[in-house]
Amino acid sequence: MATEKKDLDWGNLSFAYQPTDFSYASEWKDGAWDEGGLTEDHSITLSECAGIFHYCQEVFEGLKAYTTAGGSIVAFRPDLNAERMHDSAERLEMPPFPKDRFIDAVREVVAANAAWVPPYGSGASLYVRPFMIGSGDVIGVAPAPEYHFHILVTPVGPYFKGGLKPIKLCIATYDRAAPHGTGNIKAGLNYAMSLKSTMDAHRAGFAENLYLDSESRTYVEETGGANVLLVAADGTLVVPKSHTDSILPSITRRSLVQVAQDLGIAVDERPVEWAEVKGGAFVECGLCGTAAVISPVGEIHEGDEVVTFPAGHDEMGPVMTRLRETLTGIQDGAIEDEHGWVYKIV
Ligand SMILES: *Cc1c(COP(=O)(O)O)cnc(C)c1O
Repeated sequence: MATEKKDLDWGNLSFAYQPTDFSYASEWKDGAWDEGGLTEDHSITLSECAGIFHYCQEVFEGLKAYTTAGGSIVAFRPDLNAERMHDSAERLEMPPFPKDRFIDAVREVVAANAAWVPPYGSGASLYVRPFMIGSGDVIGVAPAPEYHFHILVTPVGPYFKGGLKPIKLCIATYDRAAPHGTGNIKAGLNYAMSLKSTMDAHRAGFAENLYLDSESRTYVEETGGANVLLVAADGTLVVPKSHTDSILPSITRRSLVQVAQDLGIAVDERPVEWAEVKGGAFVECGLCGTAAVISPVGEIHEGDEVVTFPAGHDEMGPVMTRLRETLTGIQDGAIEDEHGWVYKIV
């Protein structure tokens, strides 16, 4: 039975919250997760003493469900989101939501909201946001005694409405992640502390900040919500790596590294000094994450100094374009999914 789609202007949706028919909810109490299930209630009622309000136990994920050319509703590599959320939860002393149940919950909530999954070709998708919070009461500093796992879904429009125009970044004056801290997990706390520098960057006319490692301010790390990719003059894809484990393991980045290898592009994952970038070692730069796959970067500013990427300054460069088209082709079903990344929901 074909689902009657909601009457929305899919191609013109923004990235704003739009409640759908169902969310998914499960609670952890007395040492175990309950059965969980769909709910039409999109609110969560908590005690004023819930752990989330005081000691910030919160982790989240972000993935997209979308319609392929063949008409299936699919998600991209939800197993990696399940795994990453498991790791994030452990780092904050939260009980991980079982990985197989995470995937089942994503499937269940997306299938129940099939009418909200944008049609193929609209460029829009259903954004899936699993999150977990400490919901039990705590006043002394300790992990909360109870937790909520919740998935909300909301339709979002195409990321690039005006085409893939290269953006400008600036080197952040604040740090994002402490060495060996929480930069490698997906937790709201990392975002709270980056909002000031993000807004400062926006007020100064930049799309995003580029953070250097906070230990030495020598190495390129990432932006507030996306990993960095660089292309050297000889065409090698160079992927910044952290000595201090403070870069978030982006699923898009890990997929693009595999795509590059499949395409015969040399890949070098290593610490990258900001001085190399300033010295003109790279001809293209991009940011990668679920939302945009790759956003091209044309310039990075540090005070009055400007670094430009000659092969990707006016429009997305050839290597970034090839990587992006290949990955989006695999996602849409136009290119064979050799690695089994596209997970069929309906
Ligand atoms: C979510 C996120 C990314 C991108 O990860 P994807 O899995 O590719 O969406 C990159 N950096 C940070 C800090 C993030 O929170």
